[in-house]
Amino acid sequence: MFEQTPFEGVTAHPNGVVVNPGQKELRSRLLLDAMGHFSPIVQQARQGKKPDAVCMVVGSCAIGFPKNDSGDLIVSFTPLQNQCQYFWEAFPARDGRTTYLFTYLDADPDRPTLEMLFEDYLRLLPEYQQVSLEQLQFKRALFGFFPCYQQSPLQPQWNRILPVGDSSGSQSPLSFGGFGAMIRHLKRLTEGIHESLQVDALDRRALALLQPYQPNLAVTWLFQRAMSVGANQKIAANQINQVLSGVFKEMSALGEPILKPFLQDVVQFPALAQTMVRTAIFHPGLVLKVVPQVGLPTLLNWLIHYGNLAGYSALNPLGRSLQPWAKKLPPIPQYYVRRWFDAWQYGAGGDYLE
Ligand SMILES: Cc1cc2nc3c(=O)[nH]c(=O)nc-3n(C[C@H](O)[C@H](O)[C@H](O)COP(=O)(O)OP(=O)(O)OC[C@H]3O[C@@H](n4cnc5c(N)ncnc54)[C@H](O)[C@@H]3O)c2cc1C
Repeated sequence: MFEQTPFEGVTAHPNGVVVNPGQKELRSRLLLDAMGHFSPIVQQARQGKKPDAVCMVVGSCAIGFPKNDSGDLIVSFTPLQNQCQYFWEAFPARDGRTTYLFTYLDADPDRPTLEMLFEDYLRLLPEYQQVSLEQLQFKRALFGFFPCYQQSPLQPQWNRILPVGDSSGSQSPLSFGGFGAMIRHLKRLTEGIHESLQVDALDRRALALLQPYQPNLAVTWLFQRAMSVGANQKIAANQINQVLSGVFKEMSALGEPILKPFLQDVVQFPALAQTMVRTAIFHPGLVLKVVPQVGLPTLLNWLIHYGNLAGYSALNPLGRSLQPWAKKLPPIPQYYVRRWFDAWQYGAGGDYLE
């Protein structure tokens, strides 16, 4: 885009795109849509579909907390309330201490508003950080919500238009760490986009391989479901807390190599399989409670992605060993083959070793 110019529309022609046609036009061979979750291009591609889930987040950066240089990735200290399980996050920041309250929901219109969530944040913050609100001096407030769709990453719908970043839905529906996801995929995307331009592989199908299916992302849907409750669903008030305590206890028993990648937003088959087995052995009651909570269709769907994750994990080393062979292929087949190798690597969480 030109600076200070809102995106109004794009026309995809056989040989290129024209952005904002009829106005201050910009012509290009490829359009990268980095307009975030609410990109107008994505709205058109998703045809107004309701998000499958939403994560709401409110928080602030403030000074006046007791000295604390540590951070929390995820904390829960309350049972379900308003059909929401509240999670907290805190970390030291340049201007003070940042604290967030977040919760996973379905997109039911009766769900609490961000304003209501902010009230609960201010009500519960003193208990969380052991500080009274009067002691705090707020520097800034933060709030937002992240929609997410099971049909993610979003496949390009048109020739010469590629969603990247939040617009592509390539972030985990669990962490919503879209910035981190973008950074992790930066090398893959920059190399892939460069090659697609070089060999002129810019149609919808060629671009789809730059936002490939990733089973390690797909499996996280079940975890998100297990950390939320439907608008009219009845589960025990402490069930989500108990499940999380059980799972994290087993991950922690398995050690840092299992726990750390997960906390850094990377799901790998061996770590996931070991955690599942240990949780099933040591907490069978919890596992049985989760099944009706998430529902059988979600579970069966998850099993497919879990199987795919195992498959991608097996294919990843094969892809790596075939790299020298792929480099000898003619440009177009090479583009396609290398994208598949990337998909196996990233879809299996194999990028974590890089
Ligand atoms: C409170 C909060 C905390 C977060 N914490 C983390 C974190 O700890 N770690 C992490 O990895 N991620 C975090 N994220 C997510 C992270 O901010 C996003 O994933 C990231 O910013 C996505 O980058 P993006 O470039 O894809 O989209 P965006 O940053 O959303 O950028 C989209 C840009 O497109 C512009 N745009 C939209 N429509 C138009 C239009 N019609 N014309 C012109 N321009 C347009 C917007 O103005 C915006 O500048 C957090 C988000 C929030 C809200």
